[in-house]
Amino acid sequence: MISFPIYLDNHSTTRVDDEVIEAMLPYFNKIYGNPSSTQHKVGWEAEAVVESSRNKIAEILKCEPDEIIFTSGATESNNLAILGIALAYSSRGKHIITTAIEHPSVLEPVKFLAKNGFETTIINPEPNGIVSIDKIFSKIRNDTILVTVMTANNEIGTLQPVKEIAEHCVKENIFFHTDAAQAFGKIQLNLSDLKADLVSLSGHKTHGPKGVGILFMRKKNPRIRLHKILYGGGQEKGLRSGTLNVPLIVGIRKCFEIVCRDFEKNYSFIKSLRDHLLNGFLTFIDGTHVNGSMELRLINNLNVRFEEINSDMLYKRIKDIAFSTSSACASGKGEESSVLAAIGLSEEQIKSSVRFGLSKYNSFEEIDYVIQKFSEVIKDLRKK
Ligand code: PMP
Repeated sequence: MISFPIYLDNHSTTRVDDEVIEAMLPYFNKIYGNPSSTQHKVGWEAEAVVESSRNKIAEILKCEPDEIIFTSGATESNNLAILGIALAYSSRGKHIITTAIEHPSVLEPVKFLAKNGFETTIINPEPNGIVSIDKIFSKIRNDTILVTVMTANNEIGTLQPVKEIAEHCVKENIFFHTDAAQAFGKIQLNLSDLKADLVSLSGHKTHGPKGVGILFMRKKNPRIRLHKILYGGGQEKGLRSGTLNVPLIVGIRKCFEIVCRDFEKNYSFIKSLRDHLLNGFLTFIDGTHVNGSMELRLINNLNVRFEEINSDMLYKRIKDIAFSTSSACASGKGEESSVLAAIGLSEEQIKSSVRFGLSKYNSFEEIDYVIQKFSEVIKDLRKK
């Protein structure tokens, strides 16, 4: 039995797992202390669960517990990483490299720095949505302090060569940051393998709660220093002031544990759903084209365009399926996707593009319904 609307907008956010909700509940009204209250048991209990969550997350990510900073989400993690490095290391250099397909929470702080005395190089991806390593390396200068490249794109799902970029940055003695908000849970992320200095993660992209994230910050070889961007009580070793949100920290820990426990099962299931969706579109809808590389792509992403179809018409006609044109951030503002423009699509091609983000909660029955609905509506629209 299908329950409507069918939710295929999992890059925007995901349904919180029931196990996550259950794990969080006692921390609202039973263990509700402030982890910074060091004089009594109520505070100690809260502190204990924050630290055990930090330990568990570090074990999953293969890093040290004191390399984990809890934040309010990947937006804050990206801001703290980029502004924090820029402010702490400006005496070493004032040049930053990034790509045109980053999330606004990377591009906006980079633009802010560009207006405030830094120089920035923004690299366009290749037409397949992957950034060329050589192009990045060719832009490195003596005064480059930071390279920031996302692990996976939130619109077209393309996977970037972050491992190679990170290794090169180590050789050049430049910091490397990656926004892995979309990638975590869909690729195996091992921070002892990836030579990144800073990695941003979010809770709500993998069936965890909204409003919580993580910044991994390397403590050894090299030991990273960041300038804080929030001033206050000095929590999280002075880097992130503000009372720690214990229920959300428990929630992100639980969803990371579930991701790890069910990785293999969900990976193959979601990939087969996504491939079924693509095959259905290619079989039943003439003029279907995939945007970006199909090989180097998140297993839960499909971004396609249908010739001669304006996606606005699809939204008007298809109300029982939740899908999107581009990222929630861009579509909320009615702006055209800068990611699709950066891979060289024309305005008309961008207008005919739609994004699907799948999850473990989807089913083959739902995907069959989606294929049938899209083919009927598109045939009808083309007749007019
Ligand atoms: N980076 C990427 C790639 C994202 O997709 C998102 C969420 N749209 C963010 C950062 C921001 O994450 P959060 O909502 O946790 O702030």
